[in-house]
Amino acid sequence: MVAKKPEIQYVKLFINNEFVDATDGKTFSVLNPSTGEIISNVSEASQEDVDKAVAAARAAFKSNAPWRTMDASERAALMHKLCDLIERDLDYLARLDTLDNGKPYTESLGDLDYSIKTLRYYAGWCDKIHGNTVPCDGPYMCMTRKEPVGVVGQIIPWNYPVMMLAWKWGPALAAGCTIVLKPAELTPLSALYVGALAKEAGFPPGVVNIVPGLGAVAGHAVAHHQDIDKVAFTGSTAVGKKIMQASGASNLKRVTMELGGKSPLVVCEDCGDLDEAAELCHTAMFGNHGQNCCAGSRTFVHESIYDDFVKKAVKLAQERTVGDPFDEKTLQGPQVSQQQMERVLGYIQKGRAEGACLECGGDRLGNKGYFIQPTVFSGVTDNMTIAKEEIFGPVQVILKYKTLEEVIERSNKTEYGLASGIVTKDINKALTYAQAVRAGSVWINCYDLCLPQTPFGGYKQSGHGRELGEDGLDEYLETKTILIKVQVKVS
Ligand code: NAD
Repeated sequence: MVAKKPEIQYVKLFINNEFVDATDGKTFSVLNPSTGEIISNVSEASQEDVDKAVAAARAAFKSNAPWRTMDASERAALMHKLCDLIERDLDYLARLDTLDNGKPYTESLGDLDYSIKTLRYYAGWCDKIHGNTVPCDGPYMCMTRKEPVGVVGQIIPWNYPVMMLAWKWGPALAAGCTIVLKPAELTPLSALYVGALAKEAGFPPGVVNIVPGLGAVAGHAVAHHQDIDKVAFTGSTAVGKKIMQASGASNLKRVTMELGGKSPLVVCEDCGDLDEAAELCHTAMFGNHGQNCCAGSRTFVHESIYDDFVKKAVKLAQERTVGDPFDEKTLQGPQVSQQQMERVLGYIQKGRAEGACLECGGDRLGNKGYFIQPTVFSGVTDNMTIAKEEIFGPVQVILKYKTLEEVIERSNKTEYGLASGIVTKDINKALTYAQAVRAGSVWINCYDLCLPQTPFGGYKQSGHGRELGEDGLDEYLETKTILIKVQVKVS
């Protein structure tokens, strides 16, 4: 079955519950990565527009504003209502992300299902955010309150358009913050539609604002804004560094970030079923066209099973269906943009030039849209560029190892530390690896499970702070200490 392309409904900035043109009337084109054609022109936020969105978010955060005086359980009800509306329009939203991002329709549906689960998980937190009473020295009674951090800027990437919004909005709304979201310029359409749903759900004006635009303009304005209390960012490590500098150069806003990765996935000699292990590694790498910050992008395979594993990996890559993402049989659509496609092809070229063995793929597919053949390299060594840098495309890099100690050391020999995995039947080996690897997530006999309930984030240059779970909520809260003098203190 082939899903139908969606009609585009919202292409303007969403500020104070209204869709408005950019102040200077500017727009930018959003392209369909399957064809390179323009889908629509979307309003482009300037510094002035970001100022307006921040002013709306600040007004909605005033202590006497409806959002601040509403019961926490009512915040939860609004979040559930938003989820009900996303469920109602699930098919439309999935088609929007498929058109805009190029991901297969079935994967877009999966992203939405997961987005709803994340928002509902955080809705459950709203009226369970507790402070403490603290036995303190002196004639005082002490209580702490967990309060929303304030107006938050959220800058998100293009690889999971709705899902990244849900990861950001869930904890922020549960905590009671107000939001200025800057979606990626490559994929702003589904965020704008969810903005309309938030209004329909009944969120007061100014609680969520959406400012599509360019990173260097709208993103820069959010990162440097003097009246934003926190910025949450997902994207490249290079831009992450700029965001931290912007915080230091402006108002020391809190910063959390999810950045890149070069995650090791180790297949031990005792992995059990080699077909299953190969399949797991294939999905870990090729899921979302390799455009995944946790992609298992360094596949380490024990020398005793290396050759057999490579054969299986190549077969899986060759069988992967690449094509129209609206076709339900398709597993891999186009890369998100011409620039990303060229970047990935550039890495493939480097792999060849530096002596890795190209087992299959390696080229662009067709001459329309941004499709790349699923590619597998064997004989890769740690010093090669494709073993060190984030490719962010459908390119599997298979390395050989001998001992557990060696693979632990090599796993950690990277500036990143987002995710990792190990496939083994030996629990001791798995736990030795899990403790020693310097990464925010370790998956044993599974991969890429970022669940709403479990914290997710990076060591080293893969990030700051955590998203999801209770840890993700904490990042949107300030702790206030209130001390009260008492006449007589009784324990
Ligand atoms: P990017 O980091 O440039 O963009 C991510 C977001 O940041 C977008 O919304 C963008 O508009 C914004 N942005 C860009 N420059 C900014 C600035 N100076 N100030 C504030 N915001 C800014 O990522 P990209 O160019 O879209 O992709 C490049 C590479 O980043 C990819 O190849 C991949 O390696 C990595 N990436 C990682 C993730 C992830 O999930 N960790 C997601 C997307 C991209």
